[in-house]
Amino acid sequence: MQLTNRAKLVDRRPLSLAEKFYVPAIVKGMGITLKHMFQKKVTINYPEETRPFSPVFRGLHILNRDSEGRENCTACGLCAVACPAEAITMEAAERLPGEEHLYREEKYAAKYEINMLRCIFCGLCEEACPKDAIYLTETFAPSNYSRKSFIYGKDNLVIPHPKERPDEYAKAKGLVDERKLKANKTTA
Ligand code: SF4
Ligand code: SF4
Repeated sequence: MQLTNRAKLVDRRPLSLAEKFYVPAIVKGMGITLKHMFQKKVTINYPEETRPFSPVFRGLHILNRDSEGRENCTACGLCAVACPAEAITMEAAERLPGEEHLYREEKYAAKYEINMLRCIFCGLCEEACPKDAIYLTETFAPSNYSRKSFIYGKDNLVIPHPKERPDEYAKAKGLVDERKLKANKTTA
């Protein structure tokens, strides 16, 4: 009994001389190749060319600074609690007198790590953050040979200082603003 009528009978006729020399198969194959030569390419010349990301794409994280260069994160741990992959770990520290130019809040993350091999880029950490501190961008972790290098610390995550590296800060901030804009559009 047939469940569908898509079954095909196998042709078991003896091969002709041309078929024995693969002539019809070669002609058919060349025809397919020729047809594809004149069609629009589906591949692109990566990395010179990149495809536009989907508006909801979520890539690598960044930790935000304010316009004076102070780190926004107050090590409240809400992002770590929200993370379904348990990818985020941190150690909190008290801000000392004289460190007001470094950290915006009285408590800050002395250590902040995200294991990119565990992360599923769900964006829940970004949504949970009450301090405008963590964002996911449109870049992805470059490939590497060691698992350890996928544990991103503050040196990888915190965006450049606006006074020390203004151009890089503006670029990173642009990613944050773009992200906020998209989030507003998708919730509107
Ligand atoms: S994107 Fe999701 S999985 Fe990745 S660190 Fe944030 S909450 Fe965790
Ligand atoms: S990134 Fe945001 S949610 Fe996570 S610890 Fe820092 S302030 Fe809290």
